Amino acid sequence: MKIYNTLTRNVEQIKPNVEGKIAMYTCGPTVYHFAHIGNLRSYIMEDVLEKTLRFEGYDVKRVMNITDVGHLSSDADSGEDKMLKGAKREHKTVMEIAKFYTDAFFSDCAKLNIKTPDVVEPATNCIDEFIHMIEVLLEKGYAYQAGENIYFDTSKLKNYYVFGNQNEDELMVGVRDDVTEDENKRNKNDFVLWFTKSKFEDQALKWDSPWGVGYPGWHIECSCISMKHLGEYMDIHCGGIDNMFPHHTNEIAQSESYLGHKWCNYWFHVHHLNDETGKMSKSKGEFLTVSLLESKGYNPLVYRLFALQSHYRKPLTFSYDALDQCASAYKKLLNKVKAIKDEGSVDDGEVKAWHNKFAEIVGNDVNTAMGITLLYDVLKSDLNGATKKAIIGDYDYVLGLDLLKACEVTEDSNSSEDAELVALVEGMIAERKEAKKAKDFAKADEIRAKLLDMGIALEDTREGVKWKRV
Ligand code: AMP
Ligand code: ZN
Repeated sequence: MKIYNTLTRNVEQIKPNVEGKIAMYTCGPTVYHFAHIGNLRSYIMEDVLEKTLRFEGYDVKRVMNITDVGHLSSDADSGEDKMLKGAKREHKTVMEIAKFYTDAFFSDCAKLNIKTPDVVEPATNCIDEFIHMIEVLLEKGYAYQAGENIYFDTSKLKNYYVFGNQNEDELMVGVRDDVTEDENKRNKNDFVLWFTKSKFEDQALKWDSPWGVGYPGWHIECSCISMKHLGEYMDIHCGGIDNMFPHHTNEIAQSESYLGHKWCNYWFHVHHLNDETGKMSKSKGEFLTVSLLESKGYNPLVYRLFALQSHYRKPLTFSYDALDQCASAYKKLLNKVKAIKDEGSVDDGEVKAWHNKFAEIVGNDVNTAMGITLLYDVLKSDLNGATKKAIIGDYDYVLGLDLLKACEVTEDSNSSEDAELVALVEGMIAERKEAKKAKDFAKADEIRAKLLDMGIALEDTREGVKWKRV
């Protein structure tokens, strides 16, 4: 498997620290609001990366944090605490907000066929680990106390700007206009490891620490949570491109200063989803969610396909026109899969050969668009039906488009409907038949209307009554 490594700015063959195993970390969501479909673009592409590694036979352990404390509205430690902002907005406690939006995040992920990482850890679970790392950084002289906060001293590092292809002005792009300089900082890009009094006295969650009651800065959580579960050496670290600076730069600074050796070998960054007005962001107030797309009638997997059709290292612009095109492409694709004949037996040699082709293509820097082209090649090929379905099932582990479900549910057969619903509908159809027999047409119509309310349409045919979901 090859990926573009932001650290070296090259597409590189992944060489894991331990043969056959991949230790992978993903920056999780800040749970003060719903994830927007931009955030979910990153999580879809990271899901594809993880699954492609598994598809190639790697044993992957993936860890994700949940940011439920310490992330301020500017990534450079100023502005309001995002969690507090969410709590005020909804008149709830910070923990209620965190629980609600964590659940909402995983529900969105499930709808998009994004696998939950092996370990998910909220930042508020690991305060002791944060304090320990900060103590070590102070001992080693990489951190200092000023104005009752603890800061990381970036001047102590020879190469703080590890992703150094940008100049400082560009690096400040993520920082918002309302940033006021923190006078405690010795250097412009020093960052807070632990807040005590400072200006956030109304902070809801606080913990005792050697430096007074307070709470952690944002960056420390990813260093500590990853080391807690993956140890001192990590293979791949992922996130959206806006995380590169300052978040990932700071993670590397504090982790490597703490460890005294290189920490993570490969950095995988997903480019942004934009709307017509620019980068989609939660702080803009109005943003697109999976639920909003659903309420407009889109299957969430249409959005997954939309994300897969473009390369993760290019910005992607969202529009409903583009999504409509994708919805129609998805429908056509499912129809093609549905039309595959039930014939022949699986040719294992072919399945293996096509598996290897897919691994090579998608394994080349997560080229999902080419992976989809290969899927069409399978559909067009003269392989027998059973073999085609076996290959499509194999590919769909990575693509996550529910392709074979299309074969199970056909418009006029209800074979895969869940048993309870089938029993209910069949019972109501039988009741309607009785009502018609007794010439109680009002009752028969009432039953038909009731079914329609449930999203079930009836069709009287010569072979009897058929039903389908509408
Ligand atoms: P947050 O919940 O703000 O901490 O962000 C969660 C993830 O979404 C991070 O990896 C961000 O880098 C990523 N992200 C934020 N905005 C976008 C966007 N417009 N497009 C793609 N990824 C994004
Ligand atoms: Zn992180």
